[in-house]
Amino acid sequence: MKDASPQTIYLKDYTPFGWTAEEVHLTFVLAPSATRVRSRIRFAPNPDAPQQDFFLHGEQLKPISFAIDGAPVSPEITETGLTCAVPEGAFIWEAEVEIAPVENFALEGLYMSNGMYCTQCEAEGFRKITFYPDRPDVMSVFTVRIEGDETVKLSNGNPQGQGDGWAEWHDPWPKPAYLFALVAGDLVNHPGAFTTMSGREVELNLWVRPGDEGKCAFGMEALKKSMKWDEEVYGREYDLDIFNIVAVDDFNMGAMENKGLNIFNSSAVLASPETSTDANFERIEAIIAHEYFHNWTGNRITCRDWFQLCLKEGLTVFRDAQFTSDMRSAEVKRISDVIDLRGRQFPEDQGPLSHPVRPESFQEINNFYTATVYEKGAEVIGMLKTLVGDEAYAKALDLYFERHDGDAATIEDWLKVFEDATGRDLTQFKRWYSQAGTPHVAVSEAFENGTYTLTLKQHTPPTPGQPDKAPQVIPVAVGLLSPNGDEALPTKVLELTEAEQSFTFEGLSAKPVPSILRGFSAPVVLERETSKEERAFLLAHDTDTFNRWEASRDLARECLVAMITEGAEPDTAWLDGLEAVIRDSALDPAYRALMLGLPTQSELAQVLHQRGVTPDPDAIWTATETLKKTRAERWSKLLPQLAEEAKVTEPYQPDAEQSGKRALGSAVLALTSRLDGGEAAKAQFESADNMTLQLSALACLVQAGAGEDALAKFRAQWNGDRLVMDKWFGLQVAASGPSETADRAKALTEDPDFDMKNPNRFRAVMGALAMNHAGFHRIDGAGYQLLADWLIKLDEKNPQTTARMCSAFQTWKRYDETRRGLMKAQLERIAAKPGLSRDVTEMVTRLLS
Ligand SMILES: [Zn+2]
Repeated sequence: MKDASPQTIYLKDYTPFGWTAEEVHLTFVLAPSATRVRSRIRFAPNPDAPQQDFFLHGEQLKPISFAIDGAPVSPEITETGLTCAVPEGAFIWEAEVEIAPVENFALEGLYMSNGMYCTQCEAEGFRKITFYPDRPDVMSVFTVRIEGDETVKLSNGNPQGQGDGWAEWHDPWPKPAYLFALVAGDLVNHPGAFTTMSGREVELNLWVRPGDEGKCAFGMEALKKSMKWDEEVYGREYDLDIFNIVAVDDFNMGAMENKGLNIFNSSAVLASPETSTDANFERIEAIIAHEYFHNWTGNRITCRDWFQLCLKEGLTVFRDAQFTSDMRSAEVKRISDVIDLRGRQFPEDQGPLSHPVRPESFQEINNFYTATVYEKGAEVIGMLKTLVGDEAYAKALDLYFERHDGDAATIEDWLKVFEDATGRDLTQFKRWYSQAGTPHVAVSEAFENGTYTLTLKQHTPPTPGQPDKAPQVIPVAVGLLSPNGDEALPTKVLELTEAEQSFTFEGLSAKPVPSILRGFSAPVVLERETSKEERAFLLAHDTDTFNRWEASRDLARECLVAMITEGAEPDTAWLDGLEAVIRDSALDPAYRALMLGLPTQSELAQVLHQRGVTPDPDAIWTATETLKKTRAERWSKLLPQLAEEAKVTEPYQPDAEQSGKRALGSAVLALTSRLDGGEAAKAQFESADNMTLQLSALACLVQAGAGEDALAKFRAQWNGDRLVMDKWFGLQVAASGPSETADRAKALTEDPDFDMKNPNRFRAVMGALAMNHAGFHRIDGAGYQLLADWLIKLDEKNPQTTARMCSAFQTWKRYDETRRGLMKAQLERIAAKPGLSRDVTEMVTRLLS
């Protein structure tokens, strides 16, 4: 591992690069351990930049030769780049370097996966390919020549020519280096075509390894739907003659939006009914859309610097959520997104890794591809849209594309188009980008002479480096229900801008029941003393589908908290209310399946911690198990009826309707398995003709302690399929009981098919370990130790994935002294590892701070 001592970079220090890169020509002569990269770049002084030395980023490059205007030069080279004396005016820079893709296990820059060359340059991978001003505000037109024996050689833009052993590509759109991509390998193609709204024909290709041809059709259709949707909803048309997607097995992220050449983790693009679950299909559709939408929000308008990452990510996540809502069920998508936000982003906000949506500083930008930047970033866009309204949002977006096309923009630019389009002052709203932490909104109410008063108070707990917070603009969507269940006031958005503010509603004949924060109109924690009766009332009557679900979720949480802290019995009134909802066949099965969900154990730990109770993972697990068993027994007569209703008789389709039914069926099967020891699950496992049914049955069997035969059968059936085998690895750890999770995970790391170099396989086991709350937090520390052992090993190969997985320890301070001590010791052990990467050093330092 080679790393310079960590250096902190600040947003306030931004300075433009001293030159513009007017044209970039790259030639790659491919060889696994000695690829030659020749660059020829025309630089011209940038009139907007201050005087500075000519510095090009470059890491782990073997220098061969350098020239300026054809004359050899000898730049000064360090571990992070080079400096060189350059002429006063424009000049031609030429360099040749050598790199070894086959030895690149960090999967950043140019590397190999199963004999295929591929690249990942965001955020700072291009500097591992050649010397370059590797920053997003330097945009240039790239021409790329690839020489090698591989049958398929791809880069960005349009093909410009090819011959025996070479291919050339030209991208007419200026782009930053992080959007550069190259792929070369013996690949097969699933072709398609799209006619844009102005009548241009675009060639579409999905490139995969031989053998994966049967898993391409769904991804191709998803791409076409995305292209059409972006034209219809945002008026954005595709701008090249060709769009390529490549599936790669070894990939750190989900996918990457390189201009005209998207590179995907194979798990995020390959799908078939036999090998993929409904959830996989939905995720794939969303990721394909997300990367495609980046063509405008990210590529045509990019980020000035990496502090502005949320400019492209928050907006694009928001856009892909809109897309999924349109393709599937909006209510189900919203609830799923909030579950995800609370599961991943809220813990980030509440722990030592807390940072604003736009961070002010970083050491390693790879560590800021977080739920805060992505998911909270998207919530901020959603709030902005709620505040200005749909029409003004559309107007502002048109202005954004018109004004900033071709720019490397900032959050200030983004907010300015909204101010100009609406006349609204967004100074206070901007705090959503600079203040970390989840705001809490406390609610109190009064009713007198037909007037109902709602008082909202906001405060945001301190976060690292931000002890005091100013009030934020919080859109609170509220509706009022009459005591008979009718809606007395339809949804109205209140704008909370002060620390404390009251809102009155007049002319009411009786005290209403408020439904607050409808649709989860802001990413906040609502604090309100509410009776069980009132929650049950909302569960029965709320017209807002999100808050109806939320009422049940609140009751479930309170029920579990009472079971954990007071040894209470499960709340039967809630279970009866819930039963009425899940019996209602007029409701979408997917929605009913979500209603059957319970708060996660980690979420319960968070709630207890917030209430000043030290969470005991074993007690949380026991209460959750007891509640599940109680529900199964209580609903034993209803379950067969629901199972019948959830049956799909038509041929498999991964659409919303069928997926919803299967989701309900899986929830019912999980309950049934608590009663029959896995008998129904075994029957489903044997007869399943799709992965959704097969995998949900397998999970029930493992959970019931009756999974060994089925696991062996599953493995025999799917041994040759890497993606399905990831499920086999992950499920065993996820579904095992707390006493055996760590042992099971450890045994799997000794399996010949465990490959730490493949991020999907590594995450399947280690991610599942970290997610199994009671198993990971086993009191003897076996879970902590196992994870730390593997993080230390993986860091030598792949710092990026290692650093991301360190966040498994982010909640360490909330537990009891024993567990806290054990986790701290593991973090210190990681920190003490000689030669630890910059990525992991930063993460561990923040976690320990
Ligand atoms: Zn993205």
